[in-house]
Amino acid sequence: MRFLLAFLLFYTVLFADVNTDTLKRADVNSKSSSKSEIIRAYNDYRNIYIRALMKDDDKLCKTCLSGLIKTGKKLHIDVIQYEVKLKKLRNKKSKKSKPHKKLIDKKKTPKKLKNSISSKNKLRSIRWKDSQRLVLRFSRDIKKSELNRFSLNDTKKKKFKTIYDIYAVLSQKTMSLKHTSVKKIRLAQFDQKTLRIVFESDAKIKQQYKISGNELTIKMSSENRELVYIPIKANQSRKIIVIDPGHGGRDSGAVGYKKYREKIVVLQTSKKLRDILVKRGYTVYMTRNGDNFVKLRKRTKFANKKKADLFLSIHANSVPKRNRKKAQGIEIYFLSTKRSQRAENTLRAENADISKMEKSGMNATLHLMSREKIFASNKLAIDLQQNMLASLKPRYKNVRDGGVRSGPFWVLVGAEMPAVLIEIGFISHPTEAKRMVDHRYQKKQAIGIANGVDRYFAKNP
Ligand SMILES: [Zn+2]
Repeated sequence: MRFLLAFLLFYTVLFADVNTDTLKRADVNSKSSSKSEIIRAYNDYRNIYIRALMKDDDKLCKTCLSGLIKTGKKLHIDVIQYEVKLKKLRNKKSKKSKPHKKLIDKKKTPKKLKNSISSKNKLRSIRWKDSQRLVLRFSRDIKKSELNRFSLNDTKKKKFKTIYDIYAVLSQKTMSLKHTSVKKIRLAQFDQKTLRIVFESDAKIKQQYKISGNELTIKMSSENRELVYIPIKANQSRKIIVIDPGHGGRDSGAVGYKKYREKIVVLQTSKKLRDILVKRGYTVYMTRNGDNFVKLRKRTKFANKKKADLFLSIHANSVPKRNRKKAQGIEIYFLSTKRSQRAENTLRAENADISKMEKSGMNATLHLMSREKIFASNKLAIDLQQNMLASLKPRYKNVRDGGVRSGPFWVLVGAEMPAVLIEIGFISHPTEAKRMVDHRYQKKQAIGIANGVDRYFAKNP
C-alpha cells in the first residue's frame, strides 16, 4: 500500500506539470503553419505519450495519439501504428484504467500530505558554471517571490555581506564554498523553510542573479580583480557513473564510411564525456581507457562492482553500404524483453559477441528484471535523447532524432542500475560519419549526454 502511494506521488510530482505545459505547447504548435513547429509538436506528443504509457493513463494516451496522427499526417510521417493503437484504446471497454488511484481514493489520502511533499523544494546541486557564475539547482521551479536578497554592510569593520533567502531545503546542515573575490560563501538552513546563502567579503562586490526554471544563477562581477576558478568540494554524496565505450581491441565494432571504426570514435566521445562529468562533480569509471578487448558481460559486472548509479554504453550504428545514405541519427536504447520494431538491426550488430550458453543465462536474468528498473532506464533514455538533440541542433540543424527504443541488449543485461545504450550516430552515413570523427561534434554530444545525466538526477535524486 505504501509502495503504491509513493509510486503515485512520484509520478504525479514528476510528470503532472511537465505534461500539461508541454501538451499546451504542442496543441499550439500543431496548429502552426511552420514545419519546424509542427515537428516540435510531434516530438512533444511522442514524449508525453511514452510517459502516459508508463502511467497507464489511457485518456492522456488518446490525446497524444490524436495529436501524433494529426501532426504526423501534416509531416507525411507514417501514422498507421498510432491509428491502430488509438482504435484499440477507443474500443477498450471503459474499464477502471487506474487501479493505483482507485485504491488510494478509498483510503482517502489526506490532501495536506500530498501538498507538503510536492511543494518542498530541495537544493539538488551547486556548481561554478565558470569563474563568475554560481549555479544552484533545485528540485522544482523557483518563483521570484520565493527569493529575497539583501545586504548587510559594515564599512568600519570592512565586512560586506550579500544575503539570499530562498524558500528551499538543504540536504545537509551547512556547506561552505570558495571563491577568490569573496572571503566566505556559506549555505545554511535558516529556518524550516528558508535556505540562506551568505557571501562575505572585505570589499563591496557587485552581484546579479537570474532565475530560470529550477536554476538560480548568481553572477559576481569581476571588476579589476583577477578571478581564479576553484572547484567546489561539497560533501554531498557523489554520483557514480560508469561509461562503457563499445567494442575495442580485436573487436572494432562497425566499420563505416571511409573505414572509420566504431571502437575508436566511441572511445574519443567517451573520454570527452568522462572529462565533463568529472568537472561537474561525478565520480566516473570507464570499462576501457585504451584500445583493448573487454567481454560484454564483464562490462556490467564492472559497473556493479563500482556500485555505479548509471551505466552508459556508447556505440555507433551502421548499415550496409548500399543503404548508407538512408540511415542516420541518434538512437537510445534501454534494456527490455520487448523489442521495438526498428531495434532489430542494432540488436544484431551489438549482440554479436555472445555464445549460445551465455545467451540462455542472460535470458533468465532478463526476465527477472524489475519493472521499476525498466522505467528508470526508459526515463534516463528520454532525458539523454532530449538533451543530446538540444545540444547539437543549434549548430547541426539536420541531426536526426532516432528516438528512444527498447530491446534485449546483452551489454546491458545484469546491470543493477539504470542502464542505456547510446548509438551516437550512423558511422556508415557520409555526412554523419564525418561529424562523428570531428572533435567539436564529439564535444557537443558529450555535453548533451552530461546535461541529460544532470537532468535525470535532478528529477531522480
Ligand atoms: Zn557497437
